[in-house]
Amino acid sequence: MLSVELHAHSEASHDGRDPVESLVEQADRVGLDGLAVTDHDTIDASLQAAKLAEKKGMVGIPGIEISTKVGHVLGLGITDRVKPGLSFQETLRQIHSQDGIAVLPHPFQEYRHGVGAHISKEEMAMADAIEIYNSRTLFGIRNLEAKWYAEAYGLPMTAGSDAHIAKMVGQAKTIVNTTDRSVEGIVNAIKDGKTEIDARRTPWHISFRQAAGGIRRRVKRRVKKLRR
Ligand SMILES: [Zn+2]
Ligand SMILES: [Zn+2]
Repeated sequence: MLSVELHAHSEASHDGRDPVESLVEQADRVGLDGLAVTDHDTIDASLQAAKLAEKKGMVGIPGIEISTKVGHVLGLGITDRVKPGLSFQETLRQIHSQDGIAVLPHPFQEYRHGVGAHISKEEMAMADAIEIYNSRTLFGIRNLEAKWYAEAYGLPMTAGSDAHIAKMVGQAKTIVNTTDRSVEGIVNAIKDGKTEIDARRTPWHISFRQAAGGIRRRVKRRVKKLRR
């Protein structure tokens, strides 16, 4: 059994804060077997994180969080960036052509760009797995909804801390039932549904501070625009 973090952001994300070195260090400190850094629409930091993780004896899973036309999709086990703004189906096609898996993060959180608001449940079922636990979900009901959905459609389940600061890496772990300590081993076991969830919610003060930070940044940008 391997304990892995499948959803974390570095400073390469517009809303992330810490360098990949800190994320890898934290993953190692909390005893993870594998780490995927999944920045928004950029994959370079993830590739670097994967290398660093391997050096520490963990499995470095390259990945990305893609902003598709209908919302966020995680691509795990891929090394080439998938462009943002593509349709859901084309995004999945490009992930699969790289032998990666498509996971739907926070699918029922509309304000955080979950795909659930824009495509049908049948279409969502084309994904390889559903993130049924996202640590940054302020209201547990959205996670429950994702779990009920995955159960009803017989889809594999994952968890993700969706960490935007290094300290939160490992807050939501996916336990993968495999002895194959490799990217392929983990990705294939997830696809086969051999997972369990071991997770905690991000403390409220951190989620709120981050949400507030995002609003502050957006307001600043808007004010700058108005001044121009
Ligand atoms: Zn997201
Ligand atoms: Zn994310």
